[in-house]
Amino acid sequence: MNILVLNCGSSSVKYQLFNMDNESVLAKGMVERIGIEGASLIHYPEGQEKVVIEKEIPDHNAAVQLCLEALINPTYGVIENYNEINAIGHRIVHGGQISNSSLIDQKIKDMIRDLIKLAPLHNGPGLRGIEACEAILPGVPQVAVFDTSFHQTMPDYAYIYSLPYELYENHNIRRYGFHGTSHKYVALRAAALVEKPLEELKLITCHLGNGSSIAAIKYGKVQDTSMGFTPLAGLTMGTRCGDIDPAIVTYLQNQGYTSEEIDRLMNKQSGVLGVSGVSSDFRDVESAMLEGNDRARLAWDIFVYTVKKFIGSYIAVLNGLDILVFTAGLGENFISARQAICKDMDYVGIEIDENENKVRGCEKEITAAGSKARVFVIPTNEELMIARDTKNIVSNVG
Ligand code: AMP
Repeated sequence: MNILVLNCGSSSVKYQLFNMDNESVLAKGMVERIGIEGASLIHYPEGQEKVVIEKEIPDHNAAVQLCLEALINPTYGVIENYNEINAIGHRIVHGGQISNSSLIDQKIKDMIRDLIKLAPLHNGPGLRGIEACEAILPGVPQVAVFDTSFHQTMPDYAYIYSLPYELYENHNIRRYGFHGTSHKYVALRAAALVEKPLEELKLITCHLGNGSSIAAIKYGKVQDTSMGFTPLAGLTMGTRCGDIDPAIVTYLQNQGYTSEEIDRLMNKQSGVLGVSGVSSDFRDVESAMLEGNDRARLAWDIFVYTVKKFIGSYIAVLNGLDILVFTAGLGENFISARQAICKDMDYVGIEIDENENKVRGCEKEITAAGSKARVFVIPTNEELMIARDTKNIVSNVG
């Protein structure tokens, strides 16, 4: 069974075609700069040279068309025709209160459309990707895999904000959490590595990238997660502020800032970039810090301190910890950040081995002898998780 996974962003479409008989990737690639000058497709067929096509790509429909044509191209394609695509899995950021990946029908499309107001940058493009596939591959089953759905297992006291309850009832204001597909993938992978069912484990999964979130997972269910109503909450991120006193927003409004300005300020100009004034990329910030830039040092310290605080509080609500996982760009690659986060955590049962920790981008246990919890670096694979969910759903329907 071949499954195409699509991840449509506001100006990009990423794709991977899996042969799910052995979970191998036949081809992957991405279209960038949709609707902007300088658009291109980069296509990586398995075992062949990459292909770059530069041309005008006006919208998501044209982008999906281009990805699909690359897959059947006689020279660099990997399948002969579209009949070899058995199903399509879509990454959809916001699934509201839906707790499972779902076969796409009119009801699911309406729900994704309804949620555009909660995830304007993501759900709209996701829906456009679904509609493009419907037009080009009519009849091929499509599945929506939501970033929010794994977090739907949270207890109500973890997801309800202490605001008037009517805001939850009338406006759906609650903690949703994001990166759920990634948290679920690495949690399942960690359980496989320690050879125990996820239902018997307490884990904390740290998805640390440009956007970062942490999840506390107890016996297979999410107990809590750091992102909230939107992906702005929780940790200090590349350009997002994470948790702040909400009164700062009304204070700034009273100082004359518009809501658009505050939104931009908190989403695009804050976090590590805003504090350091150097960059949103932690590599640049670390280099500046090592050269003596004190604001870079401050941004780095705030990030490390925030991650530690979340880990500590999640150990408290989990009443212990079996496994700590680091994943995503920073979690997988940043040796010194992992070292700094896990420093002086022996009291709560976390100790990592400095030498084992010297690892980038591959799966590795980095636990020190004597540590109560086991610590792993696990590269995330959201696309494979989406392909697996898609396979399960279409197999059950079929
Ligand atoms: P992501 O959003 O998951 O792509 O992660 C982006 C972040 O990962 C950036 O801020 C980088 O600092 C970090 N990162 C990515 N690759 C590396 C690497 N090879 N070494 C250290 N950090 C990295």
